[in-house]
Amino acid sequence: PLNCGIVGLPNVGKSTIFNALTSAEAQAANYPFCTIDPNVGIVPVPDTRMDRIVSMVKPNSIVPTTMEFVDIAGIVEGASKGEGLGNQFLSHIRQTDAILHVVRCFADDEIIHVAGGVNPLHDIDVINTELLLADLESVEKRLVKAEKAAKPANAPTSAKLEFETVKKLQAVLAEGKPARTADLTDDEKLIARDLFLITMKPMLYVANVDEGSIADGNEFTKLVDQRAQEDGSQVVRICGAMESEISLLDPADRKEFLDAAGLEEPGLNRLIHAAYKLLGLITYFTAGVQEVRAWTIRKGTKAPGAAGVIHSDFERGFIKADTYNCEDLFRLGSEGAVKDAGLLKSEGKEYVVKDGDVMFFKFNV
Ligand code: GDP
Repeated sequence: PLNCGIVGLPNVGKSTIFNALTSAEAQAANYPFCTIDPNVGIVPVPDTRMDRIVSMVKPNSIVPTTMEFVDIAGIVEGASKGEGLGNQFLSHIRQTDAILHVVRCFADDEIIHVAGGVNPLHDIDVINTELLLADLESVEKRLVKAEKAAKPANAPTSAKLEFETVKKLQAVLAEGKPARTADLTDDEKLIARDLFLITMKPMLYVANVDEGSIADGNEFTKLVDQRAQEDGSQVVRICGAMESEISLLDPADRKEFLDAAGLEEPGLNRLIHAAYKLLGLITYFTAGVQEVRAWTIRKGTKAPGAAGVIHSDFERGFIKADTYNCEDLFRLGSEGAVKDAGLLKSEGKEYVVKDGDVMFFKFNV
């Protein structure tokens, strides 16, 4: 599955959030660098539509779709130059598809802040600068090679295009802007992808607040919101400590706890959904009495590609897909009613799958 790397300075609550996400034993300790190895956790994507389909179809088994989270520790000031855990984190973070940037927005004198005080903008700048410097270094290395390859009069067009692309990226990074803000053509984007730049990945800020600031925020979250707006990024506000408590409750108590706190769902659900959206993902369902299952695809995927997520044979032998949207099912009350209303359609190879579609594939083997 696609994955999100969780980054942030030490002691901002990364492990707390990661552990709550994966419902692992909370091992968060009040000590920088306590999460040295990247922890990888696979998390089901909560989906109330799936619950509704299940209550109507009553299948024998239920399989939610999943997302992967990676807890990436070790980014401190100077990390790109080998400080702290140095370059170790870089190789892990390059392999992720998106970045969740946790920012400490709670005051707590008991918990050491690496920079001596809670200062979200400073924290954000430190992390973003380290990521940027790491990218700048890889781009500058590549630039030397690309220039050499593009120099001969008979150099292939592709070599010239690569040189141009790398030059563009270098200029953007040298200005202190993330690579994702570079204005690239589609061909250049393909080249850029091979550079595995960290600042090219989509990023979301996670404002980790104290319990009292979830609803309305606080002086720290105001700063984060403002910065995010300037960056064109999103912010999700959660309280790591409370999420960690919720994750340890059993489901019945969980509901009670949330009701008492005046919350509809755990903040982690909001976080997972925001990450899913950040990655440009949508869900379609297969629904039979044997199994109701959710599948993840990228927005814009056509029917055969969606079938291919289940099995490559489904994609190769794709004939058609009987399709309706789950919202029609909820509105009309049964599959029969959806059919009678003419909303169960036979879709072909060019059909672009929509979020919440329920699909039955017909294929040749
Ligand atoms: P990491 O170094 O970024 O992984 O941070 P940790 O998750 O280990 O958290 C550092 C400390 O902050 C731990 O003592 C946590 O219990 C505490 N902490 C995490 N989230 C919150 C929060 O929302 N509120 C408060 N008050 N403390 C938190």
